[in-house]
Amino acid sequence: MYKARPTLSPTAAKSFEKCPLSFRLNKIDKIKFPSSPEAAKGILVHKILQDVFNQFADKRNLDYALSIIESSWNKLAADDKKLAQEKQSGLSDLKIDNSFFEDAKELLESYFKMEDPSKIYSQSQEQWIRFNTDDVCFLGQIDRVDKSPDGQIRIVDYKTGKSPNPRFLDEVIFQLRFYAYLWEKNYKQPPALLTLYYLKDGKAVESSVSKNDIAALEKEITDIWNKVKICATENNWEARQNPLCDWCAYKDEYCPIFGGTPPKINPASVQTAIGVKPKSEAAEPKLENE
Ligand code: SF4
Repeated sequence: MYKARPTLSPTAAKSFEKCPLSFRLNKIDKIKFPSSPEAAKGILVHKILQDVFNQFADKRNLDYALSIIESSWNKLAADDKKLAQEKQSGLSDLKIDNSFFEDAKELLESYFKMEDPSKIYSQSQEQWIRFNTDDVCFLGQIDRVDKSPDGQIRIVDYKTGKSPNPRFLDEVIFQLRFYAYLWEKNYKQPPALLTLYYLKDGKAVESSVSKNDIAALEKEITDIWNKVKICATENNWEARQNPLCDWCAYKDEYCPIFGGTPPKINPASVQTAIGVKPKSEAAEPKLENE
């Protein structure tokens, strides 16, 4: 029988590891912020590349991609406007100028220098994939899945930022390993290759993935989920200062490290989002400065 479970994506898992309070505010309190122009640009470029791969090979070229920038944006903004207020991402409220479209154009030009999509067989784009354990559904949305003539699978993700320092490779590849784990659980075979395309500086990061990597990833995300459940049960979501605090939307209003106050937690929301009952009223958020 179908049983609704809480969900955990790779982004949410990493967000929890960086700062449990920020995870709570997003996943349980559901405090969302309108899209930034940077995030909106990412959504637009992903949408255009998805459209490119939905064309016949002779149309999968830069001219086609550039020709649909503005119409794709107008459609995204119009679709966003149609959604109920709480589901809107704020795309339709953004003030967009020419530099926004110029940047999108540069990102697309950068992509087409890295590979020729007319020569690639992509079997799906923006594919949701999930795997249920007893108490959580691990899930993700894969930008692109390619299949080689001999049936090998490659999982591809586009990033609109710059490539990271190689020191952080393990961290950036976590998301694709998470997808590889989901792929293996669903199709009983790991993908042969994982590729990240960094469109800002035109660099690609590639990695293979073994059964051992997938087993290690499964243990890692199971451990993360168990820690999430402990925080939820104890009602104790630590604010953990980290290098990304300056970009955290919760910083001024909700983060106690920076003088803000988190809202009182609603136990019913905890139960819906995490599937456990909090023991008591929220503990005073613990602060940890790195
Ligand atoms: S600003 Fe506060 S809530 Fe945001 S990531 Fe930093 S410690 Fe966490």
